Amino acid sequence: MMDIQVTLTDHPKQKPDQNQLGFGKYFTDHMFLMDYDKEHGWHDPRIVPYGPIPMDPSCACLHYAQEIFEGMKAYRTAEGKIQFFRPQENFKRLNNSCKRLVIPELDEELLLEGLKKLVEVEKDWVPSIPGASLYIRPFIVANQEVLGVHPSARYIYCVILSPSGAYYATGLNPVKIYVETNYVRASRGGMGEVKTGGNYAASLIAQEEAEKQGYSQVLWLDGVERKYVEEVGAMNVFFKIDGEIVTPELDGSILPGITRKSVIELLKSWGMKVSERKLSIDELEQAAKDGRLEEAWGTGTAAVISPIGELKCRDTVTVVNNNQIGPVSQKLYDTLTDIQWGRTADTFGWIVPCC
Ligand SMILES: *Cc1c(COP(=O)(O)O)cnc(C)c1O
Repeated sequence: MMDIQVTLTDHPKQKPDQNQLGFGKYFTDHMFLMDYDKEHGWHDPRIVPYGPIPMDPSCACLHYAQEIFEGMKAYRTAEGKIQFFRPQENFKRLNNSCKRLVIPELDEELLLEGLKKLVEVEKDWVPSIPGASLYIRPFIVANQEVLGVHPSARYIYCVILSPSGAYYATGLNPVKIYVETNYVRASRGGMGEVKTGGNYAASLIAQEEAEKQGYSQVLWLDGVERKYVEEVGAMNVFFKIDGEIVTPELDGSILPGITRKSVIELLKSWGMKVSERKLSIDELEQAAKDGRLEEAWGTGTAAVISPIGELKCRDTVTVVNNNQIGPVSQKLYDTLTDIQWGRTADTFGWIVPCC
C-alpha cells in the first residue's frame, strides 16, 4: 500500500455553530488528493490543507464533463466514536463510474485507508448534535490540458469534507413531488446509473420549474416512453401498494443507491415482500384511486428516508397516506439512523469504525 503523506495547516479555521450548519456550506481544514498520469498510474496520495486546485483553463473536465463523484457520511456516536456506513459500497460505485467515463480505476482499500486518515485528522469537525454529520464528497476530475474529445491522460482524485446539519429540522415531513413529463434525466445507455456531474446539470431546469409551482422535488420518468417511474431528485423511490413494497428495477438509467440497497435488505429481513420491477405512473395513480397506495418515500444518503405526501402529474394530484408519514417509512428511518449513529447493534455488518 502507498504511503499517505500528511501536511497540516498552519491556519485552522474557526468552526461554524453546529446549529447553523445547513448542507455543504462549510469545509474542513484539510482535503485528500491523489494524481493520475500514464507514467505513474494513481500516485502521491496525500492529505494537505484545504484550498483551490490549480487547473488550466483547457482542462478536459471543464469542457467535456469527464467528472464523477460520491456522497457519504461520517457519524459521531453517543460515546464520541466516529464511524462510516458501508463506505466500501461507495468506493465500489466510484470504480463503476470510472469504467463508464473511461477513468482509470482506483485501489478501493487505499481509498478507504485515505478516508479514515483524513477523517481522523478532521475528527473535531464531526458534529455531535442529533442528526448532524460530516458529509464526505470524493470526486475525480480530468485535468489534461487539451481540447480534443478523448479520455484525459491525467486526473485528480480529491476528497473534501463538510459538516452538515440534520436534513429535517422539524422532524420527518412528507414532501410534495412534481412528476416531470417533458424533460428526462437519463435514458438507458446514457449515464443515469453513474454519479457524474452531467446528469445533475440536465436535471436543474426541471427542479427549478417544480419549485416555481410549489413542489420540492422532481419525479423522473423513463427517457423512452415517459411512463415508468425512475427516481425522485437524487433519491431512489419506493411505494407500498397493497402491502407489497415496489421500487423501480435497476435498468441502467437509475442510480443504484446504497440507501436503496440497505432498505431492500432491511425490508426483506422483516419478512416483507419487495418487488424490483417496472412501475408506470398510470398504475400508481390507479392504485391511489383504488385506495391501494399506502406509502411512498425516497431514499438517499442525505435524507435517509424522505416520505412523499403528494404527487402531481399533469393535472392529476395524488395524495399519499393523507400527507402523513407511514409506519414503514418511519420504521426504516428509525432503524437506519439508529444503526448509523450507533444507537442500535449493527447485525448486518454495515458499520466501519473510523476513530
Ligand atoms: C446519490 C444518488 C442516489 C442515492 O444514492 P445513495 O447511495 O443512497 O446516497 C439516488 N439517485 C441519484 C440520482 C443519486 O445521485
